[in-house]
Amino acid sequence: MSEKPKCVAEVTDPSGWHRWKCGKTAKVEHEGKHYCGTHDPVKLAARRAEKAAKWNAQWASQDAARNEARRIVAELGCGSASSEGVRLSLDEARELARLLSTLKCDVGRLEAK
Ligand SMILES: [Zn+2]
Repeated sequence: MSEKPKCVAEVTDPSGWHRWKCGKTAKVEHEGKHYCGTHDPVKLAARRAEKAAKWNAQWASQDAARNEARRIVAELGCGSASSEGVRLSLDEARELARLLSTLKCDVGRLEAK
């Protein structure tokens, strides 16, 4: 009975100090080398591409949010923008609330006419 081929992938511990060969029973052969299901180079590349696509989508979404926040800050003429949103200082918020209350009054007067 011949011994089953073992996975030749190099594995490192999280510290990066210790390296060893995986050694699990191989499931696939790729370019003449044997790999287990975890270290199948084709599957690994697919998993990396999937992760990269996920990160890119997240970055794109954060960029879009930051740009929208910057546009609003420019429109308001106050506040600071981030991917989280728009932040106003207490003074800026007071001023904005005061201005909004005058708008409400104006609308009320218009409706009264
Ligand atoms: Zn392996």
